[in-house]
Amino acid sequence: MTTHAALLLLPGDGIGIETIAEVERLIAFFNAKSNAIKFDVERDLVGGSAYDAHGVAITDAAMAKAAKADAVIFGAVGGPKWDKVPYEHRPEAGLLRLRKDLDLFANLRPAICYPALADASSLKRELVEGLDIMIVRELTGGVYFGEPKEIVTLEDGSKRAVDTQLYTSREIDRIARVAFDLARKRGNKVHSAEKRNVMKTGILWNQVVTDVHRSYAPDVALEHILADNCAMQLIRNPKQFDVIVTDNLFGDVLSDEAAMMTGSLGMLPSASLGAPDAKTGRRKALYEPVHGSAPDIAGKGLANPIATIASFAMALRYSFDLIKEAELVEKAIARVLDQGLRTGDIMQAGMKNVGTSEMGAAIEGELRALAA
Ligand code: NAD
Repeated sequence: MTTHAALLLLPGDGIGIETIAEVERLIAFFNAKSNAIKFDVERDLVGGSAYDAHGVAITDAAMAKAAKADAVIFGAVGGPKWDKVPYEHRPEAGLLRLRKDLDLFANLRPAICYPALADASSLKRELVEGLDIMIVRELTGGVYFGEPKEIVTLEDGSKRAVDTQLYTSREIDRIARVAFDLARKRGNKVHSAEKRNVMKTGILWNQVVTDVHRSYAPDVALEHILADNCAMQLIRNPKQFDVIVTDNLFGDVLSDEAAMMTGSLGMLPSASLGAPDAKTGRRKALYEPVHGSAPDIAGKGLANPIATIASFAMALRYSFDLIKEAELVEKAIARVLDQGLRTGDIMQAGMKNVGTSEMGAAIEGELRALAA
């Protein structure tokens, strides 16, 4: 029986258009090769390109496609051309609407270090070679959204600023489940990072994660860690971690810290997941590179497509349970890097400088060889 997987491709602007084209290569490869799964692909506009065509950063029709799709693969949005469009129609509004309307509350940021790039890391090779961490950041709650959130002028003319860190047990429960589910597909270990020593939200976070562990995932190893210690341990011995689950603020900082150990923006994938569908059990999901639309190199065929291709590999693994296929794509990336192919952003002495489509074609070639 053939499983049909509905994919919505939203290339967006700038290099998003070029890197998504390389993902389409791989989708065509899988569709031609396998009878077990068929990707039914739709495309639409988002960001500046949607504004140019329709006067909004994403149309209701595109949102309806996204809500129906099993996974959305997103390129990037933005660029100087749209600097002056009304605030509510700026390119980023398209991405924010997708995150909000699909209720994508779990942000997954892997930090993977390919052996061929280990010397480009700011840490020693032995610390990062083979590194594979997943940071699960709560994305829709916490101090970025809690009310009150204000700056008030006091009677003496000085000012007071307030942000509110706020979490409900329901919000913590659902992100903890995502982390335990992921750990089961990886190294079966979760570190939960909070500041229970100084924050009430940290105490509740710790309690709820402990309860979810006991009732839902006793088979997964769980350790609690203070978020500041987690930041230190990431630099001291990053390979001790498998999955780290944490709140919006700590996750923002820790995921950037972990990702930067492994090289360029052009290498970093991400996923944002929502609640499981009541019928299929599949979570709403959006996969995207961490980088933006890179206007400085857009349209020149210079962009590194690996972050977007690795985001597609995440979709294979986390939306469709195609673990073997995801591993093949990741192995193909590693092999191409081992052979010395480099886009400009990861170029090193003695390596071969290639463009976007040459890199994509080389990855497809290796995938073909590995899958044969
Ligand atoms: P950026 O990530 O687009 O680029 C930063 C630098 O990294 C640039 O020098 C760029 O050339 C380089 N770079 C990024 N991705 C690369 C890749 N795949 N290959 C090679 N080099 C790469 O960030 P920016 O310059 O701050 O922002 C540019 C535009 O993108 C802005 O309009 C910004 O708002 C938008 N943006 C969008 C997203 C998104 O769509 N999720 C994220 C960040 C920024």
